[in-house]
Amino acid sequence: MTNTLLWNAGYIDAEGKLQTHKNIEIKDGVIAAISDYTEGAPLPEAEEQICCKDYIVTPGFVNMHAHAAMNIFKGIAEDASADAWFNEYIWPYESKMTDEDVYLGTKLAIAEMASHGVTAFADHYFGEEQVLKAVHETKIRADIAPTIFGTAGNLDARLTEVGDLVDKYQKMNSRVHVRFGPHSPYTCPEPYLSEIIKAAKAHNSGIHLHISETKEQVQQSMAALGKTPFQVSYEAGCFDLNCLVAHGLWVEDEDLKYLGENTWFSFCAKTYMKLAMGNGGIYRNKEHLNFSFGTDGGASSNTLDILEQARTFTLIGKYICDDPTAYETSYIWKHLMDGHRALGFNTGKVEVGYEADLVVWDLKRVNTFPVYNPLTALLYSADASNVKYTMVKGDFLKYDGKLTCVNEDELLADVKAAHTKLLARGKGKAIVVY
Ligand SMILES: [Zn+2]
Repeated sequence: MTNTLLWNAGYIDAEGKLQTHKNIEIKDGVIAAISDYTEGAPLPEAEEQICCKDYIVTPGFVNMHAHAAMNIFKGIAEDASADAWFNEYIWPYESKMTDEDVYLGTKLAIAEMASHGVTAFADHYFGEEQVLKAVHETKIRADIAPTIFGTAGNLDARLTEVGDLVDKYQKMNSRVHVRFGPHSPYTCPEPYLSEIIKAAKAHNSGIHLHISETKEQVQQSMAALGKTPFQVSYEAGCFDLNCLVAHGLWVEDEDLKYLGENTWFSFCAKTYMKLAMGNGGIYRNKEHLNFSFGTDGGASSNTLDILEQARTFTLIGKYICDDPTAYETSYIWKHLMDGHRALGFNTGKVEVGYEADLVVWDLKRVNTFPVYNPLTALLYSADASNVKYTMVKGDFLKYDGKLTCVNEDELLADVKAAHTKLLARGKGKAIVVY
């Protein structure tokens, strides 16, 4: 970890305002000092000094819901219904997935996220040892929820495995957190969901699960149990804990009373549009929800670009409420930054004492220039080509526009080989039915 000085930089402060001509000193992975830049005055000492006179520094983005390994399936199930997507493509292919597929898919996803300025992601997948291997190698920050299917027949062993991992990472001051990942109320029916929550509470952990993703899930839950998936999750104790709710797109108005202070929704608007999942209740209830943005897996969203997800959410919101003044940029920016609060790492502000998970943006490019308001330039115009540097805890994952967290040529060659083998193996039998 080198000590780095970003000199003569502009940065976005906690209120979303641009501060200009600042020297930002990063020592041992932490923002150690921020001072005014004065032309001609000596710069603070640092091993690495980067001139940022044309750049803007922001906190990195958090991808609040990912299945990183699924990048290996990107493009495999297109123009499919949600039913066909799960049952005819994803779950049959996943049943024949190898450790190598999980590792390479995750590494590919991390490279893509780092390229887009994502510095932390909340992952939900099985094969967590492979996920962790990719996380450690690339040095991204991660909140890992090993997936648990209640009906898979191995619940006790799985809870022990996940519990051990939670304990291990709680003892380390690392850039990784682990939590319990029940897949959903419908794949973890009672008594399984309650058992998982009991284990999460015993390990002082949080949970991450899918709730009310589709209208059909709500209807089926009502028909079978007379309760919404949110009520089922509430009765199992999900909202007593720090709970990451993947989607919750179809949250009902009467579900709001079940949610806890530490219940965080991740909205993945591109997936909702692509799989034609409807508008659901999140738009009308957004003022009552803690939320930020996720990408879901690459097999449904095709990109792991958080700005694109926030932009899509904003555009849908303006469109369906027929009000171009709604969903203001400052409101969306606040929610983008809320991902840091949800995961509870000491990140998310360009302020002394915060860990240096930062992005340095070059907005002096044809797609973003001129810049009247840096936040709107980011939200509506920017893409990975504007990300000059991505830094996690002081370590560069992208440097001067090039990925440094992976060897891109080697990674793509490995992915190509794995993809060929995956297609040759074909589909297996899914362990669950959607
Ligand atoms: Zn998901």
